[in-house]
Amino acid sequence: MSRGLELFIRMHCEKTPSMQRGRSSLTADVILGVLGKLQHDYPMGSDAIMWKWLNDIPAFERLQKRLEAQIPPDAKRKDVYRHIITLALMVFADKPLFPQQEQLTKLWKNHSEQARRSKRRIRTWRVQINFYEKQLGGQSEFKTKQLLAEIEKRQTWMVEEEKRLEVFARKQAEKSCQCPRCGGTGVAKVVEACSGCEGRGSVGLKADGVSEHLKRVGVDVSDEACGAEPIQWFEGVLASVFGEHDEVLRKLKERLYLEAA
Ligand SMILES: [Zn+2]
Repeated sequence: MSRGLELFIRMHCEKTPSMQRGRSSLTADVILGVLGKLQHDYPMGSDAIMWKWLNDIPAFERLQKRLEAQIPPDAKRKDVYRHIITLALMVFADKPLFPQQEQLTKLWKNHSEQARRSKRRIRTWRVQINFYEKQLGGQSEFKTKQLLAEIEKRQTWMVEEEKRLEVFARKQAEKSCQCPRCGGTGVAKVVEACSGCEGRGSVGLKADGVSEHLKRVGVDVSDEACGAEPIQWFEGVLASVFGEHDEVLRKLKERLYLEAA
């Protein structure tokens, strides 16, 4: 938790407030104290921060509850609204949903330092296997046995290497929507748009993909079933969570600077 906070604060202040002036360092106690005060004054924005940067599930659930209270009381399909809220919170926190995790896994398996290293290793073993295979069928049974053993060893290594890369890619794909091919820049080679993410830098859910996504997970979002309102609601929810989040970040920065002065 405290490490998460530290990283989070470093990410958001151009200068770590503890650096030169005043008190030698902002201790974890001070930071927690400030966060506690903010939590009291700005519960929604604070929860947004806790959810986005620290993966805090209780904060996620509090956000959900607070946003559900804003569902229009006369809404026909409250369930669709609830789905929309969950989706908006996932998108806000840059958390990949299942279909994006699949796409990200593929990208990590093909466009990462680990992928390059794995492929290099596998290539080397394949070359060695070819080399051994050419020597098979000689006179000595002993030699053949030895060669077969060497080949088998490398085949096992190759399978293990692929498994390792798969595990790595899956894990990475759960962490963030950022496209690993272009590192989130959306650009490949100076001017070309990155093909991994179509130049968006991430493979997160787009606003126009909301109804697509709900359909895919089996929620009826046809116009007859719920009208267009819940879908339009998505952007509003997203904007309000972002707004609260940014507001609390500004306050956090201000107060930490005061504490450090
Ligand atoms: Zn990309």
